[in-house]
Amino acid sequence: MERRTEGVGNTCGAGNSLEYCGIIHPSSLAKESLGIKGNSAGMTLWTVTSLPGLIAQLPSPSRSLIDRLFTVSVREGELDIPPGMKSGDRDFHEFERQQIVRVTNRITLESTLFNELRAQRPLDTYADPGIAIDIEKSRGGAFCHPLTQTPADRFGRVEGTYCLTAANLAKYDHLHAVLIFRDHDPYLWEEEKIRDLLDVAHHWCTLAHHQDPAARYPFIMWNCLWRAGASIIHGHAQVLLAVEPYRAVEVLHRAVAAYQMEHGSDYLEDLILAHQHMGLTERCGDATILAYLTPIKEKEVMIISRSMECLPPAITRALSTYHHLGVQSFNLAILMPPLGSTGHLVTRIVDRGDLASRSSDIGGMELYSGTSVVSSDPFRLIEAIRQHSPASPS
Ligand SMILES: [Zn+2]
Repeated sequence: MERRTEGVGNTCGAGNSLEYCGIIHPSSLAKESLGIKGNSAGMTLWTVTSLPGLIAQLPSPSRSLIDRLFTVSVREGELDIPPGMKSGDRDFHEFERQQIVRVTNRITLESTLFNELRAQRPLDTYADPGIAIDIEKSRGGAFCHPLTQTPADRFGRVEGTYCLTAANLAKYDHLHAVLIFRDHDPYLWEEEKIRDLLDVAHHWCTLAHHQDPAARYPFIMWNCLWRAGASIIHGHAQVLLAVEPYRAVEVLHRAVAAYQMEHGSDYLEDLILAHQHMGLTERCGDATILAYLTPIKEKEVMIISRSMECLPPAITRALSTYHHLGVQSFNLAILMPPLGSTGHLVTRIVDRGDLASRSSDIGGMELYSGTSVVSSDPFRLIEAIRQHSPASPS
């Protein structure tokens, strides 16, 4: 069933703001008609607000694949600024007509609203020297002495070079461990440390499965600092092994199965391909990093891989980019097939904002409408990922 992408051909230019945008994409079409501007080198600079124009100029097969996976609409919100709001050099005229881009993933129904006024801004960075002080002040807690001050699972602990497991004192689910970093520092992105973390998590899953053979659905997550839900500053991630899959894992599984049935094709491979056509991917060994087009919140990175072994370089790449961008708090989660099965792993990492802010980044839209309001532009994110390899100077 083929449906038209809404909004294609709309005026979607964002004026000079397009010059902020990172991605450079060759185009042979008359860009003026699509609202797209070029830079002095003749390259096209794309933003999420120019997405319909980008899709319109792609070859037909690429456009068909994107249309199969996403709807993209651009609509204009209008308002009147009363004279009383205008003062000095601020007249708010830029708010009088604002373009809203809505992207919906047709397969999973994930959807995101981008407002051109927000998306045009450079990627947010946060500078709070107080974080380093908070981290230092929290040294010496239970996670600094895990062998004596944290509980062990009945089957013992798994000890790696850079982390070890503890049973979670108040468990989310019946098999739930904490992966405590040997470093106190909650920020790590070095490949060998990420690899160790995943190896220890995998080994723990094997032992937990022996304890309860009915449990076979692993879930690895890392809530980095309090904006992301962590209650302890000392670096730690978590691993669970469930009898029934958690919702996100099951939703993805059903989406993949339904897509295979309807289109005879692999959803996640097609998702990679569609993002590739739009210049929103970066290959990292055998994994692919996507600046996902329907992010759940700011700067969301998706990594699709066929195995755990090829994940560490890509996670390192994403987290080192976050470090360069000044991201202070993030959630990372790995959706994976049940133990003993093969299939893609989907890793998602999202920025949770400024640790000093008192307002939450998640509100009623994200919790209950299921459609997220996002400021960061995926085109700028992918460019940041390309620029900030682990070898880049900090
Ligand atoms: Zn500590």
